[in-house]
Amino acid sequence: MCQRVIYPGSFDPVTYGHIDLIKRAQDIFSEVIVAVAHNPQKKPLFSVKERVDMLKRATVDLKGIIIDDFDGLVIDYARKQKARIIIRGLRMISDFEYEFQMALTNRKLNPHIETIFLMPQESYSYLSAKLLKEAASLGADLSSFVPDFVEKTLKRKLRRVS
Ligand code: ADP
Repeated sequence: MCQRVIYPGSFDPVTYGHIDLIKRAQDIFSEVIVAVAHNPQKKPLFSVKERVDMLKRATVDLKGIIIDDFDGLVIDYARKQKARIIIRGLRMISDFEYEFQMALTNRKLNPHIETIFLMPQESYSYLSAKLLKEAASLGADLSSFVPDFVEKTLKRKLRRVS
């Protein structure tokens, strides 16, 4: 049976933590749709197209991965894609409350869709795109956190917006 799952998120930008999760999901499920949320209320640094392009490049060597974007509720997008499972990541206890609320809200909205949580390798468990952007704006070396091309794109973008 083809088990198609959705991994939704902002991916602003994609990090090694996200990639670690994508690989773990790919190991278990036959098709992983990584779905970039439009969510303009989060004021992402990168456009949807830029985030999609970076994800495509970061996963080019992986099989069974589709990169897409969506607007609106993730459960509606999952239904449209005929997927019954949403993948989310848990880094630390601090992620738990928000993720728990979101998973239960989504279950209330559509009881047929399950959320499954995956944990990254420990070394990525403190990595967040938000902190990464702060570190990048201060000129930090990001080579342990993101692929080289993401680091270059991020630093270029920050120079342009500052
Ligand atoms: P969102 O705005 O939806 O939280 P993110 O791109 O920040 O978008 O995160 C998408 C998903 O990936 C979330 O479930 C988040 O917990 C998970 N995630 C983000 N960074 C990491 C990481 N370093 N390790 C594991 N999971 C992560």
